Amino acid sequence: MNEQLSDRINNLPTSATLAMAAKTRELREQGKDIIGLSLGEPDFNTPDFVKDAAIQAINDNYNSYTPVDGYVELKDAVIHKFKRDNNLTYDRSQIVVSTGAKQSIANVAMVLLNKGDECILPAPYWVSYSAIVELAEGVPVEVAAGVEQNFKITAEQLRAAITPKTKMILYSSPNNPSGSVFSQKELEAFAEVLKDYPDIIVVSDEIYEHINYGSGHVSMAAIEGMYDRTVTINGVSKAFAMTGWRVGYMGGPSWIARACNKMQGQITSGTNCIAQRACITALEAPVSKIQYMIDAFAERRTLILKLLSEMEGFVTDEPEGAFYVFPDVSAFFGREIKGHKIYNAEAFSLFLLEEALVATVSGESFGAPNCIRMSYAASTEQITEAMKRIKDAIS
Ligand code: PMP
Ligand code: GLU
Repeated sequence: MNEQLSDRINNLPTSATLAMAAKTRELREQGKDIIGLSLGEPDFNTPDFVKDAAIQAINDNYNSYTPVDGYVELKDAVIHKFKRDNNLTYDRSQIVVSTGAKQSIANVAMVLLNKGDECILPAPYWVSYSAIVELAEGVPVEVAAGVEQNFKITAEQLRAAITPKTKMILYSSPNNPSGSVFSQKELEAFAEVLKDYPDIIVVSDEIYEHINYGSGHVSMAAIEGMYDRTVTINGVSKAFAMTGWRVGYMGGPSWIARACNKMQGQITSGTNCIAQRACITALEAPVSKIQYMIDAFAERRTLILKLLSEMEGFVTDEPEGAFYVFPDVSAFFGREIKGHKIYNAEAFSLFLLEEALVATVSGESFGAPNCIRMSYAASTEQITEAMKRIKDAIS
């Protein structure tokens, strides 16, 4: 039979992060000792108090469909979390629980973008943003910031990118892949620009909120004038090491929340009931319960930055959040190392995989073709060994 897939799927790029994860799995199955610094997921177990809540939910016979936008108790826990951590006041009509932050972002893009509407993506951006915008028939507009400006675009750059077609701005802070964090002052400068464009909606992805080594997290919706035009995305994947449980959520204007509810009511329904019950417990817990993971990431950040600085060719800044470093490796471009022609970041990443047996992700699909992403959500031993292997491979 002829393969007659839609243009929609034919034009959709494969997620580079998940593709690298699949390749790593495949090579390991062939017996190769790959150190995986490619996938952005905590290497911790889900905390016991959360697991216990899930077991309790099973025994309490939580097994039916849930409300599409989540159990009210979970929405209340989300409301409590937004108030406690972000000084944001939402009511239940403003919250939608989803099958991960990824779905929350997709919902928002689907319900806001018409064909040809532009979505500004400060680059580097998370791989799925551009794909999601294109799926929603929008046009991703990249605005790039390199390592020399800590991977953070300026308010002037934002202003220059706005056109009459701009409908949305989508960014993550702490940022995946760079680890950069927008300060209150920087967000205020964006808000000042946006005063002149009242119809643009900001989608602020704050999934790495708690993994912050600097001056703390600021939510865009808490900046003066931004509450009514900002959608805040968050979830439990990163903070609670629950990537596979698939729960995320959004808070924002109720007209957007209503539309997202309608959207997921036709595609996925409410997310897994057991995971939702466990998330009530997770979100009600004090942040101190997950501090041990953040402390471990901080230690690994120091280690990987030190080891990278001892090698030539890796230009990094000091990421303030998340668990990624995003070195500019363009110094290697045009060189030939051990028979590998390093003509771009993709080739360099492949070289590291084949020669150093270290999996990274090339920056191309993050809108940053000079860089590669390394996740330090790995043990200190793995990080040390990975950097040693890379050093040997490039020397
Ligand atoms: N946003 C960013 C910036 C991410 O790195 C990820 C990766 N997990 C997501 C959203 C998706 O998170 P979730 O697992 O909740 O779908
Ligand atoms: N967000 C993680 C990453 O960037 C997980 C993979 C994914 O969902 O794309 O690696």
